[in-house]
Amino acid sequence: MTADLTTYQGLLEAVTVDGGVEVKDPATAEVIGSTGQASVDDVDAAVQRAKRAQPAWAALGGDKRSEYLNRVADAVEASAEALAELLSREVGKPLNGPNARFEVGAVAGWLRATASFELNDEVLVDDESGTAVLSYRPVGVVGAVGPWNWPMMISTWQFGAALKMGNTVVLKPSEYTPLSVQALVAVVNQVLPEAVLQVVAGGGEIGAALTGHQDVDKVMFTGSTRTGQAIMRSAATDLKRLTLELGGNDAGIMLDDADPKALAEELFWGAFINTGQTCAAMKRLYVPEALYDQVVDELAQQASNAAMGVGLEEHNVLGPLQNQQQYDIVADLVNKAREGGARMVTGGNPDPDQAGYFYPATIVADIDQSNPLVQEEQFGPVLPIIRYTDLDQAIAWANELNVGLGSSVWSSDRQRALTVADRLQAGTTWINQHGAIDPRVPFGGIKKSGFGLEFGLEGLKHVAVPKVTKY
Ligand code: NAD
Repeated sequence: MTADLTTYQGLLEAVTVDGGVEVKDPATAEVIGSTGQASVDDVDAAVQRAKRAQPAWAALGGDKRSEYLNRVADAVEASAEALAELLSREVGKPLNGPNARFEVGAVAGWLRATASFELNDEVLVDDESGTAVLSYRPVGVVGAVGPWNWPMMISTWQFGAALKMGNTVVLKPSEYTPLSVQALVAVVNQVLPEAVLQVVAGGGEIGAALTGHQDVDKVMFTGSTRTGQAIMRSAATDLKRLTLELGGNDAGIMLDDADPKALAEELFWGAFINTGQTCAAMKRLYVPEALYDQVVDELAQQASNAAMGVGLEEHNVLGPLQNQQQYDIVADLVNKAREGGARMVTGGNPDPDQAGYFYPATIVADIDQSNPLVQEEQFGPVLPIIRYTDLDQAIAWANELNVGLGSSVWSSDRQRALTVADRLQAGTTWINQHGAIDPRVPFGGIKKSGFGLEFGLEGLKHVAVPKVTKY
């Protein structure tokens, strides 16, 4: 009997492998299921199946593939609550707030938006000298590797655009969140033809086997800068095409005309979305002297009011860190801030007796630019707020680091904010918001945050190869 994928138990049954590697809930340490592990031979077999399936998928044409993506979105919506529960248990993120249900909603939303895009041929020249037309063809087999923070949404960003353009896809989820991605793929594959989308679970070595495979034509990677560098080195052999969405350390700059009270909630969620475990979350905030105390107070109040706990309890909006390694990074950076003389306005003292990787929402004030909590990506529920007296200095501090994913400017004066935004080195600068991604708007990093774009028509071009016809 096939499992009912609209229920949590059915989903778990579809992806759990008896005797596999145990997966634990980071909020309770309870075992929620166990995952199979692919071997290097399994990766090869999956890539070969993807290669054989690709020509027929491409031959369907864009309209037919868009129909498939819309039907996939229907299937995701039919299983939405079950998928959200699994996400909540495996990642730790609450059902409520900008968390698990929000993530599943984004999966369906991104699929429908991607289905609606039309990437038409471009007539580049059409005069007495002749005609030149630029069109976009499938790349072939896409190998996609993802992180643990938004496992379903980021996998969808990767496979949605790739499938739309006529590629077939093999996904390798993070070893921390294998069940979420396998469950999503099980739901999706109720609709898709065989071998168009596959998943291979495993650790870094399985990711390396996939991204280094000679029959993978394009690699989409979202994760740390260090792993992105390893993938880029291995891609050199076959000159694979790459999209690298890597780490960041997004700065927000508040201008002295901003209204801290009116902006407090937006500022808070710009930093604490998914308990701070978000690539394009605000990770350091620069505030002018005149507004400093008020901003610190407003954010401390927001942090104290945001309920943190087990994800399945409806009132919670913040959850645990997803894994021990991330917990240790956050705890270590907060300790370094304290040692450097910074002030813990709220949080900063995790309860040693609490089960799960819970780290309290922490606002850190009176901290210097040189402190490791400002210089390094915390990727957790901690926001350092840095005081400035000279706007040029704040802009220089924001631009000083070697990463550039997102950034933001907070002001009551749109024109002034735009002038500052223009000077910030990042793939995206938001005004009076942070991390507000949109499936129609291209997103990607600069510097060591990577290269290549996802979303919108530009995103489609990055999972295709250009072809010029001249006559
Ligand atoms: P990570 O680099 O440790 O792991 C990411 C994935 O790469 C995992 O699936 C892992 O198994 C795989 N991997 C490890 N070694 C590999 C290798 N040699 N070859 C191929 N694959 C390999 O990153 P993480 O800890 O899972 O994610 C957190 C990081 O991701 C943060 O820095 C965050 O900023 C970044 N991130 C970026 C974005 C973005 O869109 N730019 C989105 C989410 C997260």
